[in-house]
Amino acid sequence: MVLLKKLRWPLALVVIATLAYYGLKPYWLTQLTQQESARIITLKQQAVPAAPLQRLDAERMMADLSWLAAAERQGRAPGTAGGIAARLWIAEQFATIGLAPAGSEGYLHPYSVTEHFSLRRWFRGKNAVIPGVADAANVLGLLAGTEPGLKPLIITAHYDHLGMHGDTIFYGADDNASGVAAMLELARYLKQQPLRHSVLFVALDSEEKGLQGAVALFRTGLFDADQLRFNINIDMLSRDTEQQLFAVGSYHHPWLQPLLQQVQQQSAVKLIAAHDRPWYKAGHTQDWTLSSDHGVFHQQGIPFIYFGVADHADYHTPRDTADKVDVAFYHQVVETVLNFLQVLDQQLAEKDRLN
Ligand SMILES: [Zn+2]
Repeated sequence: MVLLKKLRWPLALVVIATLAYYGLKPYWLTQLTQQESARIITLKQQAVPAAPLQRLDAERMMADLSWLAAAERQGRAPGTAGGIAARLWIAEQFATIGLAPAGSEGYLHPYSVTEHFSLRRWFRGKNAVIPGVADAANVLGLLAGTEPGLKPLIITAHYDHLGMHGDTIFYGADDNASGVAAMLELARYLKQQPLRHSVLFVALDSEEKGLQGAVALFRTGLFDADQLRFNINIDMLSRDTEQQLFAVGSYHHPWLQPLLQQVQQQSAVKLIAAHDRPWYKAGHTQDWTLSSDHGVFHQQGIPFIYFGVADHADYHTPRDTADKVDVAFYHQVVETVLNFLQVLDQQLAEKDRLN
């Protein structure tokens, strides 16, 4: 009892501090959210679109996107007939373009995952059991750079989507046939105009089941983190009512900021660097740092950038179809990604040579 008496003031202080913290937190988070949305609005106002570029073939990208998002692919769920057809078709495209096989079995990197429990998801209040997949496979092709000593850049785009629910097809045109078709067109262009760095083009499987394809690259020992220089992840590129493209990652890697500003000056879309700040900086603004495959590279300590549009009303619905694509916008988004690759390639090559 004497001890309790001695502790009564410290205890009272703890109680008061706890009440004050939880009382103030909603207010504080609202303040942070407002500050962050004001910052994003300023970024949008600052972004001045440049003239459109015409290096890439928009018609060919649309043909590839439409093939992947066709009803025959049945939404490309991992291990289904549609998913396997998509995988083999991508490998065929890599071969036609002239990429070298870089999987564990030719272009393919098969893997399977059993259901597992995720503590992180449990804490976040999501369904904590991540369903496993059998017969999944990533597709990997390598394009040599002009300076063989440099570690490769790795471009990732997931090709899987949600498959079918009953008779309903989830086509996944924007998510993420758009990223895969963009990757193929970038590979065709870079084959003709190679970068100094080698580039690994990787179509990932089972992203929709918890980034499992990206995890498998490292879990199976196909790559060690220190073998890869930089990850560029593209996921959802083809439509936005405000003609905006988000660039996610410069909060974690501030050296990317001037580079993104340079890219904006050559880009016909508005490039907004946001959605990568933790809650204590950005309040309730969504943090996309771990929202797609780039999250796995980030956790591996590999610097990354993620390009993608804001979620739209058709996101993860059967209405995400190829006819909804804004072709002119999509074309300029991929031109922007190409600008970024070229600027990044120069900058990293100089940086690595100095070290
Ligand atoms: Zn996606």
